Amino acid sequence: MKPKTLIPKVTLVGAGPGDPELLTLKAVKAIQAASVLLVDDLVHADVLQHASPTARIIHVGKRGGCQSTPQAFIEKLMAQEALAGENVVRLKGGDPLIFGRAGEEKQHLQALGIEVEVVNGITAGLSAAHGLGVALTHRAYAHGVIMITGHASPARTGAPLPAVDWAQLARTAHDCRLTLVIYMGVQTAAHLQQGLLQGLPPDTPVAVVENASMPVQRHVCTQLSQLSAVFALEKLASPAIIIVGDVLLGMQTLSIAKAPAAARGV
Ligand code: SAH
Repeated sequence: MKPKTLIPKVTLVGAGPGDPELLTLKAVKAIQAASVLLVDDLVHADVLQHASPTARIIHVGKRGGCQSTPQAFIEKLMAQEALAGENVVRLKGGDPLIFGRAGEEKQHLQALGIEVEVVNGITAGLSAAHGLGVALTHRAYAHGVIMITGHASPARTGAPLPAVDWAQLARTAHDCRLTLVIYMGVQTAAHLQQGLLQGLPPDTPVAVVENASMPVQRHVCTQLSQLSAVFALEKLASPAIIIVGDVLLGMQTLSIAKAPAAARGV
């Protein structure tokens, strides 16, 4: 039995993109010390091997399209366990600070007098770039990177942000030479493509990386004009990252009209 914590505390831990070897030492230490773990569904099962055999493990999935535990319930549960003296770890895929709701969870917990610590993890977008072997900021092609969600839902609290203007974003990416790294874009690929084509040339290189860092990882490289067709042809599914930009130039591309099977980067 682990000692109960004196000051109520929750640690939001990034479990990385999938490969359990990509955990940080800090993440391992936090998992080992936890008496209660709330686990997202993109967290690899092997990560839980570091947990104490006496720890309570609660699965709270938040994956797009699948059944998930309501965010308010997760926040309530975390607070309840921390205030009861448990050492609570919230395990999240990738990095908690990138599309990980760490901001709102932190706010909620701190308002209740609960201390919050965040442990970084490797975010899926970086792992996807690694999987492709590309540098997102290659000096010859890009001045920087934009990480953006393809699925902008209104924030739970406060005024909802306006939807992303993909045409405007494309023009900015084009003019300022920025690489786009799109999270949660599987369901909206056709919509994103349509908007992006208003500001980026049709032959702009695009890659989709599914299950980055996992043994089942696969990727497809194509051109912006073919993005949604390639999604359908290759039956690409979540979790996947879409990367857009000239940093992908030189990668073998899949062109639907020409040779679908031959040029696949799988
Ligand atoms: N906090 C996470 C992102 C959560 S949002 C992070 O930093 O990585 C969930 C989205 O992340 C998915 O829809 C997908 O776009 C992306 N994602 C997570 N794991 C992934 C993986 N192994 N391969 C590709 N994309 C992944």
